[in-house]
Amino acid sequence: MNSKEIRTQFLNFFKEKNHKIVPSAPMVIKDDPTLMFTNAGMNQFKEFFLGNSTAKHSRIVDTQKCLRVSGKHNDLEEVGKDTYHHTMFEMLGNWSFGDYFKKEAIEWAWELLTEVLKIDKNRLYVSVFEGSNDDDALAMDHEAFDFWKAIVPEDRIILGNKKDNFWEMGDQGPCGPCSEIHVDIRPEEEMAKVSGASLVNQDHPLVVEIWNLVFMQYNRKASGQLEPLPSKHVDTGMGFERLCMVLQGVRSNYDTDIFTPIIREIETITSSKYCNQEKTDVAIRVIADHIRAVSFSIADGQLPSNTGAGYVIRRILRRAIRYGFTFLNTKQPFMYRLVKVLAETMGNAFPELKEQRQLIENVIKEEEHSFLKTLEQGLVLLDTIIQKNKGNEVDGRKAFELYDTYGFPIDLTSLILSEKGLSLDEEGFNLAMQEQKDRSKSASEVSKEDWVVLSDDAEQEFVGYDVLEADVRLVKYRKVTSKKDGELYQLVFNLTPFYAEGGGQVGDKGYLEVQNGDVVYILDTKKENNEIVHFAKNLPKHLNGALKAVVDKKQRGRTEANHTATHLLHQALREILGNHVEQKGSAVHSKYLRFDFSHFAKLTTDEIRAVENFVNARIDGQLPLQEKRNAPMEEALAEGAMALFGEKYGDTVRTVRFGQSLELCGGTHVKNTADIWHFKIRSEGAVAAGIRRIEAITSDAVKEFYFENDRTLYEIKDLLNNAQDPVKAVQTLQEENAKLKKEVDQLLRDKAKNLKGDLQKELQEINGIRFLAKKVDLDVSGIKDLSFEMGSNVDNLFLLFATEQNGKALLSCYISKNLVAEKNLNAGNIVRELGKYIQGGGGGQPFFATAGGKNPSGIDEALKRAKDFL
Ligand code: ATP
Ligand code: MG
Repeated sequence: MNSKEIRTQFLNFFKEKNHKIVPSAPMVIKDDPTLMFTNAGMNQFKEFFLGNSTAKHSRIVDTQKCLRVSGKHNDLEEVGKDTYHHTMFEMLGNWSFGDYFKKEAIEWAWELLTEVLKIDKNRLYVSVFEGSNDDDALAMDHEAFDFWKAIVPEDRIILGNKKDNFWEMGDQGPCGPCSEIHVDIRPEEEMAKVSGASLVNQDHPLVVEIWNLVFMQYNRKASGQLEPLPSKHVDTGMGFERLCMVLQGVRSNYDTDIFTPIIREIETITSSKYCNQEKTDVAIRVIADHIRAVSFSIADGQLPSNTGAGYVIRRILRRAIRYGFTFLNTKQPFMYRLVKVLAETMGNAFPELKEQRQLIENVIKEEEHSFLKTLEQGLVLLDTIIQKNKGNEVDGRKAFELYDTYGFPIDLTSLILSEKGLSLDEEGFNLAMQEQKDRSKSASEVSKEDWVVLSDDAEQEFVGYDVLEADVRLVKYRKVTSKKDGELYQLVFNLTPFYAEGGGQVGDKGYLEVQNGDVVYILDTKKENNEIVHFAKNLPKHLNGALKAVVDKKQRGRTEANHTATHLLHQALREILGNHVEQKGSAVHSKYLRFDFSHFAKLTTDEIRAVENFVNARIDGQLPLQEKRNAPMEEALAEGAMALFGEKYGDTVRTVRFGQSLELCGGTHVKNTADIWHFKIRSEGAVAAGIRRIEAITSDAVKEFYFENDRTLYEIKDLLNNAQDPVKAVQTLQEENAKLKKEVDQLLRDKAKNLKGDLQKELQEINGIRFLAKKVDLDVSGIKDLSFEMGSNVDNLFLLFATEQNGKALLSCYISKNLVAEKNLNAGNIVRELGKYIQGGGGGQPFFATAGGKNPSGIDEALKRAKDFL
């Protein structure tokens, strides 16, 4: 069975059991401060488990793109070394939200694996939570045990500890016992020798976990206490690549049809062979794995960068590049050439790969280029470190610097050192690494207290599309402490006019008016687990009192102008540059807007003008906002609404229309484009290969911009004596200036000519040398010209000129070339010697040299001494 069929079989099996098939959520998570990437199928359903909102379908089935490279689940260092952990993988899952529980979950999993997919029952083991000694609330999962016992021989049921059989989302939140299903794919002879049961959860590459059935029944509070959840849920996750390995009868995920086409391509491009040698094989697996993680991220809109999620992606890509560099000898970009085959093998299940192929290739290629350059520079730097090194061990801190500042991989450093018979002081390196980690950790550490719940309103309403003030009630609050912001309170209301940061738009600020006239300021608004959370420095005095929530109107208004302008800009770019333009990110602030989009060339001045004109024409057109708050997704798309890659949309969406611009958008907008007043682009540039960025301003910011320009112009006019036409006045000034410069040059030249005549008369004859040492009033180049001109008229010449300019002294020595040879004279040495008197130094050629110094009062002495050299 090929992988495509396996995926379909899984989905259809549960569809027949009344599950709704839903698409994978994006792998890159944008609006959740607690998680960068989806690391399990359950992430997108978190809010249902927490009870913050209710699922529309109580049974769901899907395949979810996951990435385990940071935070709680980080498999990065395993990947490539073993054959069954990936960075990016698909997690197949079936879900029950308050519907069926352990019995069905267990029976159906068994039915699917053994009856539909026909996996040999004698190769399967299941595990059940044995209970925990250190936590009273955690008893053994007898329920699950009994359901399993009804279908599986007891000796195949393994009791597991808290680490393997109790699943927790994080330090806080929903959790519960789980049952894992493991499969033994060893050859039969080996199975006869050692029992599979003894190898479960022992990191054996051929006895692996394929499916985890989690039974969510508790909520863990910040205090560590467990409380039962109001309704119970099922969350299952099966590794798709592992399942394919089992069903396709191979012993490594990399030997399934998911990976073999990529591996063949790597072999071709790098002229290496998979299955020859451990190091090569690891490198090939790393590359085959990482190209997926990186491509899927870019398709989801996350480009490699220097911070946050972008940095994680950059590191993954670099890990693959350096494996290639070190073990496959790839010195040119090559990873980008794998995108084609990846898009061919996975593009049907994940069309974003096909649609964005070109962009993905460009971005990866550019990254490869610059990292290969870094590697080369790093090699040079490492060489200097090695040369300067004393002893056999190289300072770990130096290696850390190389790693930290230049991104030069530490394993490469070790390798190179060992090739040269040196060793790395690993302790020093680790220490430096730890220190840095501690620094950044303490800066980002946030501690959260438990929510204090005042009332149990399940769902919270956002009323901020219509009003900026509302009477609200505090539903719950908690204290959060971080180094960055100190102590803050998070407040959740029954309803709120405050917009929470999302879709690129910043969160609202404002205040709460408390009954007794007090005011509590709201500093920011964010979404956490789909709840709108308000941040404040303090709490209202009477927690249950009446509150009026008031949004900062000015900031909101400016932000809205920028958000609507962003839509118009998007439309303008597609009209003017073409339909290949896709939004790749946006930031809508009150002071400016930023828009990233795919396009392959710098915008010309004409294009920028055209874009501005296009947007301003729509502002002048006074287009009203037309929104639909609950449009079915298909209907919105059929109407031509712009949806973004990597964005998560529900079944119903909000659409925002201004004239021909129609977007799916949850943000807030002006009521009429006339409110934007004016749109002005401030900058256009590249952010990555094939991605451009425009920064622009609207409304008050444009006014301020023009006001500033106006003031500058006024000042210029003032300096130009109130010229009517300042441009012309500046041109005239420039012309006059050029003319004057020419005249001055001519005058100086004339002066030098006259001087030459006078000075020739002053030459002294000493030992057949014509000699003159004198202070002149010329600049450096004037002196040089003078010396050479005299030299062309007079033979056997020795000149020493001195001049004083801006408090500094200059000496210049000219000696006819024949004298240099015959009398063994050297102008360079002479000025160096004489330079002492003016407290300076210099040099040059034997026939002409200069010296500068800071002591003009030494000039006379220097001139006097010149004769000594003859
Ligand atoms: P393991 O112990 O093998 O790392 P896990 O306990 O971390 O697995 P879960 O978090 O329960 O796994 O995830 C559910 C399923 O997803 C696993 O049973 C496995 O099949 C699959 N899975 C987990 N991590 C990976 C990974 N890094 N690559 C591929 N599949 C994975
Ligand atoms: Mg794991």
